[in-house]
Amino acid sequence: MTDRCGRNITYLRLSVTERCNLRCRYCMPDEGICKKRHEDMLTEDEMIRAVEAAASLGIYKVRITGGEPLIKKNVLSICERTAAVDGIREVCLTTNGTLLPELAVPLKNAGVERLNISLDTLDPDKYARMTRGGVLDDALRGIEAALSAGFSKVKLNAVLIGGFNDDEIPELAGLTVRYPVEMRFIELMPMTDGAFGPEAYLPYSVVLEALPSLEPQPEDGGVARLYRLPGGQGNVGLISPVSAHFCASCNRMRLTADGRLKPCLHSPLEYPIKGLSKEDMILKFREAILAKPAWHGELSARHPSGAERNMNQIGG
Ligand code: SAM
Ligand code: SF4
Repeated sequence: MTDRCGRNITYLRLSVTERCNLRCRYCMPDEGICKKRHEDMLTEDEMIRAVEAAASLGIYKVRITGGEPLIKKNVLSICERTAAVDGIREVCLTTNGTLLPELAVPLKNAGVERLNISLDTLDPDKYARMTRGGVLDDALRGIEAALSAGFSKVKLNAVLIGGFNDDEIPELAGLTVRYPVEMRFIELMPMTDGAFGPEAYLPYSVVLEALPSLEPQPEDGGVARLYRLPGGQGNVGLISPVSAHFCASCNRMRLTADGRLKPCLHSPLEYPIKGLSKEDMILKFREAILAKPAWHGELSARHPSGAERNMNQIGG
């Protein structure tokens, strides 16, 4: 279905939980999350009904996200049933990777084709600091497991944070030479109020300055500008939601784990679908698609996101 700005909506990001086994500083508040009542969250059947509703309106790609989707007990069943919905051509998943050593092969068998794995640093102490207690080696073993399991694409996501990982840009990008992965640098979005000072917000151009040998590559229809290092097996992608937003070509809807359809990541607009029949979910999807804002508005340290939720409650 096309929205009021002529954008064809073909992609749903489905958050299956708000909870996580890490607590990244840019994603969650210091005190962690306030647990919601089980009965307020979408059931597996409701998630699949929502995917069916979305598919009936022309959505054909679904990304499973969270919180951390791999801590959800029934994640394999959700993936398998999503992949089986008529009209769904591609199921992908975004994860912090720490549970992939056990789950990479089962996810592949459940129909997940592509994985995005978050990796902001290669320094174990910095990893523990940014994730508030995570173990870098768990994520690295997860990446190895994903590469061995034979996914059609593995992308690594690093949020660019001034004073934290800007000194690691060459090392992180160098992973594309060692492994067949795409390494993507994502501009930090101001979600959790006051978590970072203005110096943390770096434009994507710092990556181009740090890596003068990057060669531009043809676009692949995604949100990243693509480059490649000499000898690279995969691309280096630059994603700039802040310094050069891509709202004009945004094809996404988001569904939160508590059943709110979000037409835009940074807007407070939400359309509840919990408890609805498939027919009523289709009506809500239509309403939300038609309400999709033309752009996400000013975003900066001084103008935080209007989302009124942290990223773990949206799914990125
Ligand atoms: N737990 C999974 C993970 O970390 O990949 C999936 C959920 S996480 C919310 C999805 C993506 O959002 C991750 O790549 C994460 O780095 C990104 N993210 C979270 N907060 C962000 C922020 N403030 N700015 C930019 N990206 C952010
Ligand atoms: Fe968890 Fe992912 Fe958020 Fe980190 S970015 S706290 S891993 S949901």
